[in-house]
Amino acid sequence: MMRRVLLGFMGIHILHHASRGEVTGTFMMEELERHGYRVSPGTIYPLLHKMEEMGLLKSRTEVRNGRRMRLYRATPKGEELLTEAKKKVRELCSEVLGD
Ligand SMILES: [Zn+2]
Repeated sequence: MMRRVLLGFMGIHILHHASRGEVTGTFMMEELERHGYRVSPGTIYPLLHKMEEMGLLKSRTEVRNGRRMRLYRATPKGEELLTEAKKKVRELCSEVLGD
């Protein structure tokens, strides 16, 4: 359980989007920026790679406008972890927000 929680906010956020559709590293960086976090490619790509190694994401490559890009999607294992993480986040938020 601890190991799972240690995936952290960024990992959970990636899983959230990757469970709704395919995401790219660029998309995730823009997403995080929208939420007010500046993340460099040197952070996001190794994290995506690590999450794939952990079996939480599955990637495929596609050529779009002559550019090769890697698209990530959550695996059933990733979805399961996301469900668990949501419970934890909900618990924590309701304590912090006091309801
Ligand atoms: Zn988001």
